Amino acid sequence: MSTSRDATAYDLDELRTAVLSERGGEVDESIPQLAEADEDFCAIALALPDGTVHASEQARVRFSVQSAVKPFLFALALVDTDGAAMDRVGIEPTGEAFDAIKLESGTGRPPNPMVNAGALLTASLVHGDDVAARKERITAGLSAFAGRALEVDSDIARDEHLLGDRNHALAHLMRAEGTLGLTADDAVDAYAHACAMLVDAEALAVMGATLALGGRNPVTGEQVVPAGVARDVVSVMATCGVYDGSGRWMRAVGVPAKSSVSGAIVLSAPGRLGAAVVSPPLDEQGTSVRGHIVSTRLSDDLGLHSFASP
Ligand code: GLU
Repeated sequence: MSTSRDATAYDLDELRTAVLSERGGEVDESIPQLAEADEDFCAIALALPDGTVHASEQARVRFSVQSAVKPFLFALALVDTDGAAMDRVGIEPTGEAFDAIKLESGTGRPPNPMVNAGALLTASLVHGDDVAARKERITAGLSAFAGRALEVDSDIARDEHLLGDRNHALAHLMRAEGTLGLTADDAVDAYAHACAMLVDAEALAVMGATLALGGRNPVTGEQVVPAGVARDVVSVMATCGVYDGSGRWMRAVGVPAKSSVSGAIVLSAPGRLGAAVVSPPLDEQGTSVRGHIVSTRLSDDLGLHSFASP
């Protein structure tokens, strides 16, 4: 078994080739661009505290980040509201699907920032005097996490904005409850913009590492968010990041993470590293089938499980 010290010597291409024979799962079909994803796309990257990024083949192939953006939207919302975002959204796991039309009973708040209702709200709390300024701030904030300038796929953003009926329903419900300040359409617009951000596995691993390493980007050295914000976000990733698969994930992988419908998973192992695994076929909880297998292997081989005794 390897240790964390030889993460750079880990043969990620061998792991990638081994997992490609796994044929389970279905590609998401919510928008045409996701439905057309290559089922055999698979990439793995690790971002380490010294700023090195260790990656497999295809780790520079871009894809839309989708829900793997949610931890970072939560972080930006916490910074932009001076922590007040913490009172606007719950932090309890739902045990339900990511887009369940349901708010916290009694408060009308979204249940947590890792499901769609929560991310619609956190996207709306990112500063900006108007929709365009908010989107610019989201792009700049996510780029700081990645350590390089990110771009949005405008076709994906448009389709998610237009076709995201459940997201519109959730935003209207929050308006009715008085928990969403923006118009429902503006909130969906901001959230769709964030989901359509293009990343590759290397960039996503650096984003995960920035949260894992106290909010400091290990590549650029920039303190992107305060350490307390990073700790709060990673805590909620641990309990809610893999939707109704969070318990199974925590038992098997033991690393705070966020899954997404593009098949990407971002992992933040506190004090250790950030990682990203992407492969489009998803299981019933919307987690990449290959991503789950790869993450379990990495956790075992690099000793990343939060609850394993040394
Ligand atoms: N943009 C997707 C949606 O809102 C994200 C969901 C996900 O990645 O789990 O439906």
